[in-house]
Formats: sequence, structure tokens, C-alpha cells
Amino acid sequence: MPFRPRYTGLIDKYRDRLPVPDDARVISLGEGNTPLIRLNNIPRKIGKNVDLYVKFEGLNPTGSFKDRGMTMAVTEAVEQGSQAIICASTGNTSASAAAYAARAGIQSFVLIPDGKIAMGKLAQAIMHGARVLQIEGNFDDGMRLVKELAAHAPVTIVNSINPYRLQGQKTAAFEIVEELERAPDFHCLPVGNAGNITAHWIGYCECSGRGEGALTQACSFCKGSCRYASAIVGDRPVMVGYQAAGANPFLRGEMVDEPDTVATAIRIGHPQSWDQAWAASRESGGWFDQFEDSEILTAQRLLADHDGVFCEPASAISVAGALRDIRSGRIPEGSTVVCTLTGHGLKDPDVAIRQAGDAIVKVAAELDAVKRAILDRL
Ligand SMILES: *Cc1c(COP(=O)(O)O)cnc(C)c1O
Repeated sequence: MPFRPRYTGLIDKYRDRLPVPDDARVISLGEGNTPLIRLNNIPRKIGKNVDLYVKFEGLNPTGSFKDRGMTMAVTEAVEQGSQAIICASTGNTSASAAAYAARAGIQSFVLIPDGKIAMGKLAQAIMHGARVLQIEGNFDDGMRLVKELAAHAPVTIVNSINPYRLQGQKTAAFEIVEELERAPDFHCLPVGNAGNITAHWIGYCECSGRGEGALTQACSFCKGSCRYASAIVGDRPVMVGYQAAGANPFLRGEMVDEPDTVATAIRIGHPQSWDQAWAASRESGGWFDQFEDSEILTAQRLLADHDGVFCEPASAISVAGALRDIRSGRIPEGSTVVCTLTGHGLKDPDVAIRQAGDAIVKVAAELDAVKRAILDRL
């Protein structure tokens, strides 16, 4: 058998394209290297000829793409001698920050909104030893407080305004390009704080040898040393961002003060990467669109029961969006499309169980009753 080195996380793999000092102590849980799954049943169901893939980021160590950015942000925080990290979070950032802080042996503080946080995410923050501050406000309030607080206390912010976060997250684009041996034609993703759409665009620009764009130059921390301008692997995708109708600043063209959606991970009205996401959309020839909660949940269910992939509601909006745009022809037949599934469905079991419908049948503990219930469905 040929020797294959053990996969030890995205910093080790992409060190030459990331702003990490050679002698840094890398804080990793083996994040990245997630599967790019080709959907078979759903494209057939809608009768369109497209190559539709989902990048299942829910299979990162804490169950969301946030780990890609967190390995970078926490490695850098430790490098700088920081003893504590802090973030505002709709849930996944806090789960990830708590886990990586535990790994690094430092303290984490997380500010989460009052209610409206998925159970799985809260459980993770608690188990990983975070100090959880549930604020009487929403994510945007938490974000404002974290920014103010960092000026008064020796804590490192690990929200995506920390530029190392986006540097880690851009590696998802690298993996996709490696696997497809080209960039996809369209890349669809949910947009909350808009860090991830920005990070993907940075990654694709670097892969295409066009890493000299405004976005990568904006990475003032690495002073351009992270720029990757070697092999040119073809064009960049059109970046398509989807928002919940109740939390849709990019559709309105202005901030939203009372965001609301079942997709709690994107319940954000004041995106921090506002300008960068507009730049990614404009430079790629992309667009934004929005979906009602019911459409988001329908897509989540469709993906789970037609192609076997269970993602959380926010993630499903990328598939809802891709399917709408494929049906309408805005994404033409023959295209290669990648949807990012940002987090795992198990993060938010409550939302899934609330939709159970007739999936759960109560039967007596007798052969006849069980037989009847089964034959009913065959
Ligand atoms: C954080 C998150 C998002 C939103 O990503 P942004 O970078 O804030 O736009 C979407 N889905 C899930 C599951 C998330 O955890």
C-alpha cells in the first residue's frame, strides 16, 4: 500500500497559503477535508441536467464550518500569548470557540442571544468549558458588546471580524477546486454575517491566480504573504448568497434591526462583512436572494430524505436557492454547482422533531400491531 500521510488539519495541509509562522503551536482538531457529495436523486427529481454537489461542512469536528476559521484564530491568539478568547454567536461560533479554547488550554467566553439558540450548540459550549453569557438581546447586540468589551479586557475576539477566521475558511474553496480539478460554475451559500461568502471568494481568487484583488489585499495582517498565485486552475465561480426573508439586509440594501428566522445561524441583521460580501457578489457576477422559513425547512427535509444528508436549517437555504435558480434557468443546465452545507442537522434536533408529522407511530408492543404499521407503508 502506498504511504499516505495522516490528515492533521487544514493548517498543516495549506501552511504555505496561510499566515501562520513556521514555529507556531498549531491548535487543531483535524478540521477541513470535508466530503463533496454529488447529489443524485434531487437533480433527477426536478428533471434538470446539472452537476449538483454539497460540501458537507457539518462534518467538521464541532459540526460546522466555523472550525476552519477557529483553528487559525485560536492558533494566532495563542501565538500572541492570549489567555482568553471571546465571541458573540448564534451558536456555532461559540461551540467551535469553546472546543478550540479547550484544546489550547485557554478560557473562552461566549455571548449568545436570549433563546433562539439551537440545543446542540448550547450543549457544546457548556461541555467544552465556555463561560456562557446569555444576553437579553440578539446576535447583533452581542457583536456590538464584544467589540466594545475587547477594548477593556485582555481577550481576543474570534468572530469573523478577526481576519484569521476568513483565512482559515478560504480553504474550503481550495478543497473544492482540488476535488473538481476546476472551480465550479456557481457556488451557493447561506449568508448571515457574510464572512463565509467573503472567505470563499478569497479562496477562489487565490486558486485562479487572481489573488491580487481588493479582497486579498485587505488582509493587512499577513501583508500579502498568504497570497497564493501559482497554479491557475480555471475560472472563478459566480457567488450566490441566500438569506432568510426575515433577516435579509442584502436584499433590502440596508441593515435590519429585528431579524427573525427559524434558521437561527443566519438570524443576523447587521452583517459584519457587508462591503466584502458585496464585492464578492459584484466581482463574480453573482446575486442575493431570500427564502421564507417554510421553504428553508422544505429544502432541509428534501435533502435529508432524498439524498441522505442532514444539515441544519440555515445550511439548507443554499440548496433551496440553488434549486430555485436551476428551475428558473438562472443557473443554466450543464452547470457545475456547489452548495455549502454549513452545519450538521443534529445541531438543532428540535426543529427537525417539530416537523415529524406522521413519521412517529405509536403501536402496541405486539407483533400484529407492528406488522400492520409496517405493511401500511410497503
Ligand atoms: C455561521 C453560520 C452561517 C453564516 O455564515 P456567515 O459567515 O456568518 O455568513 C450559516 N450557517 C451556519 C450553520 C453557520 O453556523
